[in-house]
Amino acid sequence: MRQIKSWRTPTPHRPLFGAAVEPFPATRFFDQLSFIGTPNVGCFVLETAEGLILLDCMEPLDEHRDMIVKGLADLGLELSDLKAILITHGHGDHYGRADWFRERTGCKILMSRTDYAFAQHDTRNRTGVLQWEIHDFIEDGDVFCLGGTEIRAFATPGHTPGCLSYIFPVSDEGRPHMAAMWGGTGVPYKLSDKVDYLRSTLYFADQTARYGCDVEISAHPFVDRGTDRLAVLREISDGVPNPFVLGRESYKRYERMFTDLCLEAMAAQAGAVDPLLPPPPPPPTRPKA
Ligand SMILES: [Zn+2]
Repeated sequence: MRQIKSWRTPTPHRPLFGAAVEPFPATRFFDQLSFIGTPNVGCFVLETAEGLILLDCMEPLDEHRDMIVKGLADLGLELSDLKAILITHGHGDHYGRADWFRERTGCKILMSRTDYAFAQHDTRNRTGVLQWEIHDFIEDGDVFCLGGTEIRAFATPGHTPGCLSYIFPVSDEGRPHMAAMWGGTGVPYKLSDKVDYLRSTLYFADQTARYGCDVEISAHPFVDRGTDRLAVLREISDGVPNPFVLGRESYKRYERMFTDLCLEAMAAQAGAVDPLLPPPPPPPTRPKA
């Protein structure tokens, strides 16, 4: 059969850590869900009947804090309505300056107890260790509820030991959907962490199937071409399908990508020479004839 050549332009999406990345315009892409951030890293604002929830908080930089403040204003939302910040995991590019928002608005900050401890001691974190306190925790199976909106948390360790992934309802033009946010993107280096990551992809797949997830969002838009799809949405008219609604089957394929990435990384690691192991013994010398 003749191979059909794609007419679409392939877009290389790579993280640009350390580079100054222009903010993407704050964009509402479901009836109650908006993105604020850059193609590198962002956060999501979920509107409920009793206030706003922020999912993740970008980098602990003043410019990122200001981006969130401006993003909320651009979306027509009030900073003072912020009631909670739910953090996926204890890396700086996810907990950001959540403390500043808490001081300003009195909102709660929630993350897992395990990652709170991890973030306080993670000297490998580019942005340093977490230096402020968290008093509210959310764990596997917990449901955070505000204004009738329920966000379910699931422990998905691997990327970090206490990483959480979230499932929550959204609607598009009034039609109900179920969104999933896989908390930790990158496959970890250590083999034991990879095993945890792999297990977590399978565990979360069970949960997303159970709740019928058909929408995926990522705090790192370079992973899922998030900002490309948001750009489409900024021009979309009523009735045209929302590119974030994948459908249940395609959602499973998206999710499977993380399982496959992890399996590939494990296979590569198993095939690599481990520098910590002693060198293999020399081949036996052939007895002289
Ligand atoms: Zn991370």
